[in-house]
Amino acid sequence: MPELPEVETVRRGLAPVMEGHRIARAQVNRPDLRWPFPRDMAARLTGRRVEALRRRSKYILADLDSGESLLIHLGMSGRMQVSGDPLGHFAHAHAAPEKHDHVILEMESGARIIFNDPRRFGAMDLLPTANQEAHKLLASLGPEPLGNAFDELYLVSALRGRGTPIKSALLDQRIVAGLGNIYVCEALYRARISPRRRAGRIAAARVAALVPVIRQVLLDAIDAGGSSLRDHRQANGDLGYFQHSFDVYGREGSACRTEGCAGTVRRITQSARSSFYCPRCQR
Ligand SMILES: [Zn+2]
Repeated sequence: MPELPEVETVRRGLAPVMEGHRIARAQVNRPDLRWPFPRDMAARLTGRRVEALRRRSKYILADLDSGESLLIHLGMSGRMQVSGDPLGHFAHAHAAPEKHDHVILEMESGARIIFNDPRRFGAMDLLPTANQEAHKLLASLGPEPLGNAFDELYLVSALRGRGTPIKSALLDQRIVAGLGNIYVCEALYRARISPRRRAGRIAAARVAALVPVIRQVLLDAIDAGGSSLRDHRQANGDLGYFQHSFDVYGREGSACRTEGCAGTVRRITQSARSSFYCPRCQR
């Protein structure tokens, strides 16, 4: 499942072919993905210029010159493929149509953008740009972890009095938007906080120290995504999947990487999801 850094990597990959470019033709090959597509989606996209390509949490938002934004959610298996870009970002020719090519945007520039999603947990919707916060997927989201509203004071007060484990609190999209299982595990590891610790019982200074750690974990992953994006562009124009190496996530039974720690990474289940951590140095 793509998390925030993967979605940001896809956004950055799409930006050169979408931002400032006009959609010459939109093709919508089925009535729905996870939810029905909005009414007349192809007609509402055709002829529109993309003013900006933004991200909110794990959603990509393409602001159109019609006053609407196209919301793109990659879901579990969604990927974007770009071909035929005359600017040379994605120089390869258009691929033959594939079975799960659900939405195709032909740009006026000659570039083609395909949304392919075999499992169909992804989504696309159109919403009024000026009123985006009213959309059902965006309405209850907390601040962006890389934005200014997510700071030490905010997190300390958001966690105050909470009896839930810190792991669950950080996964709560109302507290902070876009953090998923992998990067919460990685951030707690770097901050040396046990995922089991009650959020409201962690000293304010340790909570405050989590903020820059969360930001850095995400920025490191976005950096890694950027370099894999350059490789992928050359490979086949696919955006959305790349391999990362993690410090604790998926490393059950391996030696802790913290210098001087002799601990072993352990996996536990919290709220039906795996948490990886070192019980020796994460307290
Ligand atoms: Zn350790």
